[in-house]
Amino acid sequence: MMLGPATTNSRWHELASNVMAGHRLTHDEALAVLKSSDDELPDLLAAAYGVRRKYFGNTVQFYFLMNAKSGLCPEDCSYCSQSKVSDAEIPKYNILSRDKLLDGARVAAERGSKTYCIVISARGPNESEIKAVETIVPQIKQQYGLSICACLGLLTPEQAQRLKACGVDKVNHNLNTSEEHYGSICSTHTYQDRIDTLKAVRSAGMELCSGGIIGMGEADDDVVRMCFSLRDLGVESIPVNFLNPIDGTPLAGKSDLNPRYCLKVLCLFRLANPRSEIRIAGGREIHLRSLQPLGMYAANSLFIGDYLTTKGQAAEADYQMIEDLGFVVTKGEETAIRLAIPEPAAQ
Ligand code: SF4
Repeated sequence: MMLGPATTNSRWHELASNVMAGHRLTHDEALAVLKSSDDELPDLLAAAYGVRRKYFGNTVQFYFLMNAKSGLCPEDCSYCSQSKVSDAEIPKYNILSRDKLLDGARVAAERGSKTYCIVISARGPNESEIKAVETIVPQIKQQYGLSICACLGLLTPEQAQRLKACGVDKVNHNLNTSEEHYGSICSTHTYQDRIDTLKAVRSAGMELCSGGIIGMGEADDDVVRMCFSLRDLGVESIPVNFLNPIDGTPLAGKSDLNPRYCLKVLCLFRLANPRSEIRIAGGREIHLRSLQPLGMYAANSLFIGDYLTTKGQAAEADYQMIEDLGFVVTKGEETAIRLAIPEPAAQ
């Protein structure tokens, strides 16, 4: 499909209509989204919102991250504060106790999360880490009824089957960037290793959570390729991170994103993956800044609370943003969750 310059104000609505009728975005169309001018942004957002509204209405789903094992990772991912090549000052500990994992689930439930994400820093899980997950997941599900996402690094098909058997609903394993760009952000494992893990997860019968990090020196072409790879894998839940260039990591100080570009990225992910959950993930506070609410017209999910080794904005600020937008938090079901928005201070 050609995107004609004479109809700039309607081309995004036409594209969104076609997407809702089953059209798969082409590479050129995807690039046109990323390269669109800033004065087209309101129209692009409105078009993406049409797609979001069709599949998700005005609902928002929360995910809550628990860094169950921090630092100590033998891999060299250049964006990551927990890698062996990072000097970032972060907590370092082995897998948390049953009580701490259970307490994290309590907080997740209290904050209205749909999903509790158990994350460890590792190339892949060892036997005791898999056993810890097998032990805690049934207890969390019984006590709090949360959906569970496990992020444990590279998995063998057997490990994936064990996670499925203990009740894990989905596994997170991000592609992070395109296959072509992967070698410049990590040398200790490959893009194909990550694809193999996602395929093992799918074969075991779990949902896929996989996304990327924008702002690692990639070209627009790389963003499009990653986005399309996620589409081809049928990923159900896509976290879109914007690089937080943490001091002590090889990518420290290297991010040059602006909020308008970040919004265009979110629109691209919505238009290319219309039925997938699109989550605005790490870095939203520092890169979208005052435009965060506009991101919710394309995305339908957020992490509530802190990220793995960096602070997120206060949960109350997110509740307020969603309330102000007229959106409702759900667990993917009909019932809206009541949010604990603080009363305004007396004048
Ligand atoms: S494998 Fe995961 S925890 Fe380890 S360095 Fe890479 S991103 Fe960080």
